[in-house]
Amino acid sequence: MLTSAEIRKQFLDFFQSKGHHIVPSAPIVVKNDPTLLFTNAGMNQFKDYFLGNKKAPYTRVADTQKCLRVSGKHNDLEEVGVDTYHHTMFEMLGNWSFGDYFKAEAIAWSWELLTEVYKLDKDRLYVTIFEGDVKENLPKDEEAYNEWKKVIAEDRILLGNKKDNFWEMGDTGPCGPCTEIHVDCRTDEERKAVDGKTLVNNDHPQVIEIWNNVFIQFNRLKDGSLEPLPAKHVDTGMGFERLVRVIQNNTSNYDTDVFTGTIAATENIVGKKYNATAINSPSTGGSWREAVAFRVIADHIRAISFTIADGQLPSNTGAGYVIRRILRRAVRYYYSYLDYKQPLLHQLLPVIAKQFANVFPELEQQLDFVSKVVKEEEDAFLKTLGKGITKFNSYINFREQFPEATHAYNEELGDEFPYDIQEGKKVIVNPQSLEVTQKTIPGKFAFELTDTYGFPIDLTELMAKEIGWKVDVKEFEKELAKQKSRSRAATAIDTEDWIVLDEYALNEFVGYDSMEIQTKVTKYRKVKAKGKEAFQIVLEATPFYAESGGQVGDTGKLLLNNEEIIITDTKKENNLIIHFADSIPADLNGEVFAKVDVTKRKATEVHHSATHLLHAALRKVLGTHVAQKGSLVNNEHLRFDFSHFAKVTDEEIAQIEILVNEKIRTNIPVVIKQMHKDEAIAMGAMALFGEKYGDTVRVVIIDPHYSIELCGGTHVCNTGELGFFKIKHESAVAAGVRRIEAVSGKAAEELIAEQFETLGVIRETLKNPKEIQKSVENLVTENNELKKKVESLEAKQLAAIKSELVDKAQIINGFNFIGEVLEVSNADALKKLSFDLKTSLNNYIVVLAANIEGKASVAVSMDDNFIAAKNTDAPKIIKEHIAPLIKGGGGGQKTLATAGGQDTSNLQQVIEKVKALL
Ligand code: ATP
Ligand code: MG
Repeated sequence: MLTSAEIRKQFLDFFQSKGHHIVPSAPIVVKNDPTLLFTNAGMNQFKDYFLGNKKAPYTRVADTQKCLRVSGKHNDLEEVGVDTYHHTMFEMLGNWSFGDYFKAEAIAWSWELLTEVYKLDKDRLYVTIFEGDVKENLPKDEEAYNEWKKVIAEDRILLGNKKDNFWEMGDTGPCGPCTEIHVDCRTDEERKAVDGKTLVNNDHPQVIEIWNNVFIQFNRLKDGSLEPLPAKHVDTGMGFERLVRVIQNNTSNYDTDVFTGTIAATENIVGKKYNATAINSPSTGGSWREAVAFRVIADHIRAISFTIADGQLPSNTGAGYVIRRILRRAVRYYYSYLDYKQPLLHQLLPVIAKQFANVFPELEQQLDFVSKVVKEEEDAFLKTLGKGITKFNSYINFREQFPEATHAYNEELGDEFPYDIQEGKKVIVNPQSLEVTQKTIPGKFAFELTDTYGFPIDLTELMAKEIGWKVDVKEFEKELAKQKSRSRAATAIDTEDWIVLDEYALNEFVGYDSMEIQTKVTKYRKVKAKGKEAFQIVLEATPFYAESGGQVGDTGKLLLNNEEIIITDTKKENNLIIHFADSIPADLNGEVFAKVDVTKRKATEVHHSATHLLHAALRKVLGTHVAQKGSLVNNEHLRFDFSHFAKVTDEEIAQIEILVNEKIRTNIPVVIKQMHKDEAIAMGAMALFGEKYGDTVRVVIIDPHYSIELCGGTHVCNTGELGFFKIKHESAVAAGVRRIEAVSGKAAEELIAEQFETLGVIRETLKNPKEIQKSVENLVTENNELKKKVESLEAKQLAAIKSELVDKAQIINGFNFIGEVLEVSNADALKKLSFDLKTSLNNYIVVLAANIEGKASVAVSMDDNFIAAKNTDAPKIIKEHIAPLIKGGGGGQKTLATAGGQDTSNLQQVIEKVKALL
């Protein structure tokens, strides 16, 4: 039987033999594309070729691409594990033609590969083609139909509608009809009983789509209309895991060698067996759930680990949050269904790293780092998972005590009374006034569990079910939708179509050599974000550096027909360089003088070159495990995140600074070269994980024995320009990731000046001592001693007050009463006195009051005899008699309670009131 590795290789070999250039997978995390968080199809990395923004270096390309479909337009998350052929992360095998071959070759080759190389049974294959669409005024794809007719029986060519057979990248952009290949994996008897063709595109688990061939021939505009593209392209995608399943003759992707290793490792860890036959029968309950859990884990661990290896750490927002959610989903499955309560996922990483070492080596190369990140996330979630379960249980307890209550339980406010939250305030409600709702968890509470503790709704539902409750899922979904629309409103960007002034112009960056040039606008458009209007401008050639590799985008000016356009930022969209402006003149035709803000750019370059010096120094001082995990470079400072497992010590920081400053003083020339990627790597160049490089790379060399990096940024000419380098701060960002913030050049000069100034002020305040450090130390010691003295004096004072109070005790109706307005410095003193009086009194009640910095403070204490005799207690007395007098409130234990309030004018009345109780 062919292994999955052989199957992958045969695909690539086949297309290589048809003149295709084999390229590596792009990183799974997408940069420079506002419409995508993750790569969700093989074509993403070639978008610019389809859009005509860039010319393809090869017209025929093939690869296997890491894809993730968990957010946005393509989201398969809820299917994963429940079915056996949708994954979060999967490999998409693809072949492309950029303006080269079209339908005839694509169709013929896909058939040849499937039936002659992989030897799939022709009787089990069906194909679909686009039937046309009246509304869009699109005809049936006769061309594809005719090509298929040459190789497959006509009754196996099925017509598909726009939803299934017209592929679009997004709301706008390249699109076109597609033809899909489906395989019928049912048994012969099943196939005899029901005609396979009726099951195509019908969600049958054994009749599945494996390959989609898209023929890109239109561009969808913002107004919805379609414009034919000048060059036609082929874009295909075949699900690797599905292909392997078909070739290896399995009924589930999870039974192929892509997943069996991970599943076996999971079985070993949790001590349970994966029951693959419990697949299609949810009715088997527990064992079905268990089987789903095995699949979810085997699937999710791949998505999590490859995304982290590509540089995306789990976090609270954006792409990082998506990863966190996938990870939590996996944790919840092993916790709830495999009864495994410790971190599990990170234990599976070695298996996966090894399995993919030859295809996607980035995981094996960073195994320690990725394991550390995954384990820390698991630890953290297992903790909140436990807390969430406690929260859930106390909610249920509360509701069982107050079955009529419909409101959400809130821990902070306590469960004393049923209450509702109105306008952010707790409102006590009368249980009788509440509608009776039996054993239903309100959606708001379920949402709180999701939002605060990361509970997926089905976990809450399962926990509810176990105790005979249900969840108001409708209300939950409403809450979720509310939150989603809140976050959508915050990020929604409305982009209008480009207004093109020159269709064929290049978009060239000339800013490595020039800071100003004469050029022209080739296109522009209006965008609206958060209600604010702005403009995006593309120039034929531009000196403006677009934000990338951590270096911020340039700002500056465009001069056009005597008008000035202020450029506030420059960013890339894929490879298009876009200049941002808040306003533009009506007419953008004509010569443009583009001028970068040079001072800012130069200060930024200083920090970029300093970043390279720092990176190399870190590897020398801390070790070669240091790899860049994030970088920010602007005119004010640099921030560098890197993998390292311990705090960088003060000595190490000092060593790093010494090394970098030495390199600055040596005034090393910064040499920049273009070369083949392999040559650069052979030279020892540091490439970054999660970064996409072409065949030719730009290499920045600062002493070939010290720092060689692949880098597209702008740099100084000689390190001497940096002047000085100083680390400001070292901290942790995430598990195994440290951050250094540093300054160089003028920013470093300013930092030092600032520090000297502060020191000068301190020196003066201390009256210019000879040894400033010593004098500060003395000051601190002295201060500590004084504090101790004050404390002991205060204690003595309190003891004196106490014995005075005991002497003043009056006996009223058989009880000792002490009531006094005191002068003390803090409320704790009242509490302490009340507490200390306990030992000297029996059958008593004490009330002490004080005006502390304009606020009323009261303590009431008593013994159990008093409580029993008067059927009251300290909190009750506070609430009923004292709180109104001082316009405040408080509480505490039955024998000792305290209160605070705004009104200090009634303190004597407080004493009288309590006295009256006797
Ligand atoms: P389906 O309808 O099965 O979800 P699709 O129409 O979303 O598939 P395409 O966008 O055409 O799929 O992607 C091309 C190929 O990628 C599919 O034919 C399939 O083999 C594979 N594929 C798509 N989504 C997934 C997924 N979530 N997991 C594994 N393979 C997938
Ligand atoms: Mg799909």
